[in-house]
Amino acid sequence: MVGNVGVGGDNPIRIQSMTTTDTMDTQATVEQSIRMIEAGCEIVRITAPSKKDAENLQNIKDELRARGYDTPLVADIHFTPNAAEIAARIVEKVRVNPGNYADKKKFEELEYTDETYQQELQRIKERFIPLVRICKEEGTAMRIGTNHGSLSDRILGRYGDTPLGMVESALEFLRICQEEDYHNIILSMKASNTQVMVQAYRLLIVKMKEENMNYPLHLGVTEAGEGEDGRIKSAVGIGTLLEDGIGDTVRVSLTEEPEFEIPVARELVRRYDTRKKHQNISSISDYPIDSYNYIRRESNKVLNIGEKQVPIVMADFSLKKKLSPASFFALGYRYSVPTDKWNIGDMASDYVFLGDEEIDFNIPGTLGIVYHYDTWLKHQNEDRVYPFLTHKQYLENPTLSKHLNIVYACLPDLSTELIDRLKSDPTAVLLIDSWNAHGMAEQRRLFVELINQKCTVPVIIGRAYGNLKEEELQLHAATDMGALLLDGLGDGVFIAAENCGSDQTVNQTAFGILQATRTRISKTEYISCPSCGRTLFDLQETTAKIRAKTNHLKGVKIGIMGCIVNGPGEMADADYGYVGTGVGKITLYKEKEVVQRNIPEEQAVDALIDLIKSYGDWVEAKSD
Ligand code: SF4
Repeated sequence: MVGNVGVGGDNPIRIQSMTTTDTMDTQATVEQSIRMIEAGCEIVRITAPSKKDAENLQNIKDELRARGYDTPLVADIHFTPNAAEIAARIVEKVRVNPGNYADKKKFEELEYTDETYQQELQRIKERFIPLVRICKEEGTAMRIGTNHGSLSDRILGRYGDTPLGMVESALEFLRICQEEDYHNIILSMKASNTQVMVQAYRLLIVKMKEENMNYPLHLGVTEAGEGEDGRIKSAVGIGTLLEDGIGDTVRVSLTEEPEFEIPVARELVRRYDTRKKHQNISSISDYPIDSYNYIRRESNKVLNIGEKQVPIVMADFSLKKKLSPASFFALGYRYSVPTDKWNIGDMASDYVFLGDEEIDFNIPGTLGIVYHYDTWLKHQNEDRVYPFLTHKQYLENPTLSKHLNIVYACLPDLSTELIDRLKSDPTAVLLIDSWNAHGMAEQRRLFVELINQKCTVPVIIGRAYGNLKEEELQLHAATDMGALLLDGLGDGVFIAAENCGSDQTVNQTAFGILQATRTRISKTEYISCPSCGRTLFDLQETTAKIRAKTNHLKGVKIGIMGCIVNGPGEMADADYGYVGTGVGKITLYKEKEVVQRNIPEEQAVDALIDLIKSYGDWVEAKSD
């Protein structure tokens, strides 16, 4: 129980978020909390960086209660056990980060012997037990919230920067709670890297089971960023776990106002409210997929699809009429009339499915056209034109393309005859779909069947959506496809979206999912924190400024963090870091190394660009 809100068990999946105001500014924090609560936030977290801030939680709580809001509050603690002990007597929950609760981050690789490791644990125990006892006495809940980017030197030295290190970091604290017979605990394993995040939660469950523990889980992707990228990345990480029935409370972290996080979290969770039933998916005795390490499924190479190549994107234009070169702008191709040339963007689709809509103009040189089989027969001698066949058409032994044949099938279509045929056909690529309410699970079952039967046909993951808002499409597709891609499944994606926004959004969603699963990088990656009471500059405005100048740097990861206390750790694997160090002061990082300290904020964005240039990662933006 977090105050009057139950988490875990049969309770609904709870939605929560965190304020970004200065905790000492009672009025601003109360007003922002109310906006969050009105948007549907069920648990409000507030940073408490010092004893003073922790004490002010009382004023915030009193004001909220006086205004009729009984939503439980959580104090977010890093580095300051004293603040935690004060807060635990005021608010309904405290969040501690085991990576920095009683540790100062030194960024030193230290060798620990068994003896020094045990001494460290003893030190932590002495520092942590008083808080546990207060929580027990006051009925205060606790989240032991591990972050990939802020593991202690002790854990890093022994387990490395790994999901296992994250799990062990929480278990050390959890065991202390158990010894004290304190169980009002929630756990989290957040990371900005969705692969690491998903693997860590799964591993935590396994380890808890081994020790007979079953605590509720709080899901989140840290530093997901903003806008479309932040939504897709959050859905890939959180949605993947929700698809497997994992997760009891959700926080989506966006570099936006916290009340904007709530509809995103609600939409991720809402899909499971109505998912009481789905068509039966046959059980398996042998699960061949590694849930704890990313291993791409072995597949054949068919043109640019499969084997070690990045997953392709196939766009759906099968319902379009009267296509012209301009129609392809939305797919990342720009036709220049004066030069009679196509310019190809970093997010240009690899294939487009036209159904029966024939075109009579030249297509860009990197694009493949896919027609329904009967229409393809008329175009079969043209370059880069391929057929789409149902599994039935395919099994009837028709004339086939010598290069690539796209065969559409769902799990129930996967007969022995079809698998045998696919195994012996070096031109076949399977385009899978599902009409099951739990489509991800059905599609994963299909992959299991292929792997167990040693069928290495490349697979494009297809899903059809209709009548969704753009944001809903992003969240649903990122959940459904991300859950497979994160496990190394799939050689491409195909989103058929009828009445779900512009063609450009659908295309960008497909590339966004590949980027968020780290399977195909086509743009700059921003790892920006959601900001909180520690933030010392306007993070949203700064992120927008940096993004405007750097969004053409494909594959470069830029961390934009509000504070020096947590920022450098949290941005984990960023190539460059822009971190607030004081009012109007910014420190720049190259990976984990500080390169320039306390630059005035007005000069910091230009200094960041100079830094990127000095390491040879800068290219000039292309103009259209
Ligand atoms: S990194 Fe950002 S969200 Fe995290 S504590 Fe610092 S300012 Fe707050």
